[in-house]
This record gives sequence, structure tokens and C-alpha cells, in this order.
Amino acid sequence: MNIVEEAFQQLYLQKDLGYDTSIKYSSKFKPYNSNVRLYNNRLEFNLSRKWKPVSREIQIGLIQSLLLKILRNRLKPLKKTTQDIELYNIFIKKIHIAVPKTKSDPLLEESFNRVNERYFYGLIEKPNLAWHNSISKLGSYEYGSDTISISGIFKNANKELLDYIMYHEMLHKKHKFKNKNGRNYHHTTDFRKKEKEFENQKYTEEEIKKLIRRIRRKLIFNRVFI
Ligand SMILES: [Zn+2]
Repeated sequence: MNIVEEAFQQLYLQKDLGYDTSIKYSSKFKPYNSNVRLYNNRLEFNLSRKWKPVSREIQIGLIQSLLLKILRNRLKPLKKTTQDIELYNIFIKKIHIAVPKTKSDPLLEESFNRVNERYFYGLIEKPNLAWHNSISKLGSYEYGSDTISISGIFKNANKELLDYIMYHEMLHKKHKFKNKNGRNYHHTTDFRKKEKEFENQKYTEEEIKKLIRRIRRKLIFNRVFI
């Protein structure tokens, strides 16, 4: 029995998966990323190469999490979670300990240190810090690579705006996610409450909206006139 069939049987308690399956480990992915696609009656699992040496139980938990997502509207599982899913969630929440810290940037590091001192008593361990180019994604925290990345639009913005995005992502690093009925929740009520503890939160959010509007207008202008 292959690993996908095993994952399926544990979760749906039936033998016939009804789909062809394949599993591929790829070096194209970021560390510990993964996805699943369904087409032509075929379930194709793509996992970062980093998953290969990880224990079979944890990989089964990962595959089960992906199955729950992709089959949500097609097949009702008999269990909402499994021991392997729990193991997988613990693994993802702890992986930052093993990830090498190689990426940083002076501006991001200053912001991280400011926010860490001011809101976390300096207790958050420094993750990898990087800029990205998207405007629609202001910031992100990636568990698998322990990386906070922040949109380059904040490079020249008021420091408070950058700090607010940093604060949001640091909350993700600190609080991780809650698992309920096989689904992971990142922006919980608790999370939103903590987010409001940022000084002048409402004002800062408004300023960020204004900044995005300004940049969008500039982009449209450049497209039309240059
Ligand atoms: Zn978030």
C-alpha cells in the first residue's frame, strides 16, 4: 500500500480511494511546502524535497491535511482529525527550531528588534527576514522556512507602518495556528485581540491603506504615461 492510500484509509475508513495518485518530491518548493492537484481523476501530491527524510507518520499527517482540503466537497471523512495530523501540526509548529537563519536586512532587523522589545519583552527568536515584491501581500510568515517577509512598499514608508506589519507577522510566529476539526485557523479572535494592542492600531491601518492607494495610483499613472 502506498503512503497516499494508507493516509486515505486511516481518515475515510474505506478501501477504495477512487482516484489514481502520485507523489513527487521536488526541489522547486520552498522548505516544507506542499500542494495537491486533482485533474483527470488523478490526485497529484507535490512535496518539497525537505519532506523526504521526515518520518512516515508525519508525512501521512501532511497528506491527510491535504486530502481534507481537496476532497472537502466531494467526500465526507469519518474522522475529522487523526493522530498523524496532530503529529504533523506539532512538527510544523516546531520546525523553526531546526531552520538555519541566513536571511536578514538592516531595516527589517531594526524593525524586528523594536517590535520585539516593545511588545514581546524581547522574547521572540529572530527568524529569517526578507523583502518581497508584492503589493497585494503586505507580509507573510512561513513556518517551513521560519521567514517573515514584508512587501518592499514599506522600505521608504513611515517606520510605524513597517513595524505594524512586522508585529502582525511576529504574532503569527508566536501564536502559530489553532487546529479545529481538521482545519487550521490563523487569524483567531485571540489573534485579532492581540493585534489591537499595537499602539495607534486604527490610525496605522488607515495610513497603510492610504499608502497602498498612493502606490496603486502611481503604478496606473506609469502604465498609462510611460
Ligand atoms: Zn496574518
